[in-house]
Amino acid sequence: MEQLQITRKIVTDVLVVGGGGAAARAALTASQSGADIRLAVKSAWLNSGSTATAFSELLAIAAAIGHGDERDHPEIHYHDTMDAARGFIDPELVWTLAEDAPKRIEDLIELGLNFDKQANGKLVQGMSDFATYPRTCRVNGVTARHILNILAKEMKVRKVPIDEHMMIFRLLTDDSRNIIGALGYDGNTQELVHYETPSVILACGGAHYLYEYGVGTPDMTGDGYAMAYELGVPLVNMEFVQIGPALIHPPVTLLSGPVWKTHPILTNEAGERFLEQSLPNETRLEEVYEHKAFPFTVSNASFYLDYSIQKEFEKNPSPRGGVWCEMAPGSEPIVEEKMPKTKRVMKSKGIDVDRDKFEVGLVAQCMNGGAQIISKEGETCIGGLFIAGETAGGLRGPDRPGGNSLAEGQVFGYRTGKAAAQYAAGVGNRSFSIDRTVQGLQEIQGWMEKSRNGIKEVEASIQELKQQMSRNCLIIRSEERLAEVWGFLVRTEQELLQGQYAVSKDNLKRAIELRHMVTTAKSIVLSARERKESRSCHYREDFPKKDDTHWKGSLRVMKADESMNCDFYQWPTERQKAGAAKP
Ligand SMILES: Cc1cc2nc3c(=O)[nH]c(=O)nc-3n(C[C@H](O)[C@H](O)[C@H](O)COP(=O)(O)OP(=O)(O)OC[C@H]3O[C@@H](n4cnc5c(N)ncnc54)[C@H](O)[C@@H]3O)c2cc1C
Repeated sequence: MEQLQITRKIVTDVLVVGGGGAAARAALTASQSGADIRLAVKSAWLNSGSTATAFSELLAIAAAIGHGDERDHPEIHYHDTMDAARGFIDPELVWTLAEDAPKRIEDLIELGLNFDKQANGKLVQGMSDFATYPRTCRVNGVTARHILNILAKEMKVRKVPIDEHMMIFRLLTDDSRNIIGALGYDGNTQELVHYETPSVILACGGAHYLYEYGVGTPDMTGDGYAMAYELGVPLVNMEFVQIGPALIHPPVTLLSGPVWKTHPILTNEAGERFLEQSLPNETRLEEVYEHKAFPFTVSNASFYLDYSIQKEFEKNPSPRGGVWCEMAPGSEPIVEEKMPKTKRVMKSKGIDVDRDKFEVGLVAQCMNGGAQIISKEGETCIGGLFIAGETAGGLRGPDRPGGNSLAEGQVFGYRTGKAAAQYAAGVGNRSFSIDRTVQGLQEIQGWMEKSRNGIKEVEASIQELKQQMSRNCLIIRSEERLAEVWGFLVRTEQELLQGQYAVSKDNLKRAIELRHMVTTAKSIVLSARERKESRSCHYREDFPKKDDTHWKGSLRVMKADESMNCDFYQWPTERQKAGAAKP
């Protein structure tokens, strides 16, 4: 087999990996801080990840600027976020998020972002889950996309170089665990590229593609989590994956809280209503709809909606593996009032919500877990490695207030951009270890050589992984289900490493993606198996109760030698960390 060689070398102060809101903010700030920077994005720029493509009826970014209610303040934002996930998140990071979010809104406005405004010129702010006061700011229905566009415009002005279709797949470190570079695979040319850099910002988003249905683009294969894990960065809260109902054909439109306020009718393939039948005597259907927000939760009566959808499609699936949904007769006015944007988006996909039945399944939307950052600059335990956005862990626990994820991308994108630029300047003329770079290349060459006679098909296993995760680690979890998917993942990992898969230059990208998917999925399944209770978006059929006595705290997954370990992790107390940071 032809040997894979590095055909290009790019030297830069800071490499930003990703193409969403966090990456764009990090790249812009690093550039403004004087660093020589490079952004590598796996797909087409402005066309991948959640920031570029997310749609929901209430898509918005949280910042306690007090325009919706002047009593709102960063202190309240801090407490709301802590209350949603106390014991599972880092108080110092949360305080930083609450304190900085208004500043990042201000500079988005300065860049020209036209947030929706009230008649008095103040910004419109909406209520979101876990918020005491209205706090989320919007832009014309597709807030995230507008944020990305305005940052991209400024990046263009500053001529920030962007390597499109470049999948970063391996981070390189020296013997002192400092970043010395990264390897990338150029999807356009099938070349291997060596980035020589002292500083990397990982902002690769989440891992929706681990499931059969995800709201996001197919490149979300958990690369950021897997690359960080390989270097020894702990992954925290990985069992908490936000999953909920969405239109699955044509794919995929998220059905958020307001949609359920119209009380649509759910039926199975046989045309029977099933939600009503699944409710215990004391629970009313109205209560289910009243509480229903997007992600699945065990915390209120909305539990029965997602739970009964999964039970039903496991018994008798619609053609694409879901159930059927239609609006109640005469509900046109309330549909127009509650979900006008969703109605329009569905119309553009050929569905008239007032008349048509459509297929609904359960889809992955957002990872609450992530690779642990240990300071408000987004540093990690690896020198020169910074993480921001959905890839970062420590700010989202079992629950997260609506709007916080976009705010995280802006706050920690900014901070990591600045810190990485400073770090790179401080490193000066460090000589980069050629040996470690060659070793990184040899490992991939050796793996391909070993796979020369492999016969297993990468693509088939990617599809099987997605099916396994959807069958066994969606919202209904149990020891039996989790053991089945765990067995599959461990087997696949061994077979991959032993060279049993057919890997060539042509499918190298997919083969590496499969490795990343296996690692990330293992971290989710291991944590879910370990957590023997039900809490928020993690439901164990065999342990249906919340158990604060034993489980009020994070699980942390780490690489130990060649195996994956999971332990219980105590976050610093509020007094030790956040107390010191507050004014
Ligand atoms: C439907 C939907 C609705 C949502 N609603 C809200 C909301 O109202 N409020 C809120 O705060 N949050 C919301 N979220 C969550 C929020 O949108 C995301 O958490 C956030 O946009 C993530 O931003 P990011 O920059 O971290 O990653 P993303 O925007 O997902 O970008 C990740 C990027 O990394 C790139 N990438 C991945 N791997 C590699 C690699 N190996 N090499 C190079 N590049 C790579 C991808 O191509 C992509 O460009 C929603 C999400 C969805 C899907």
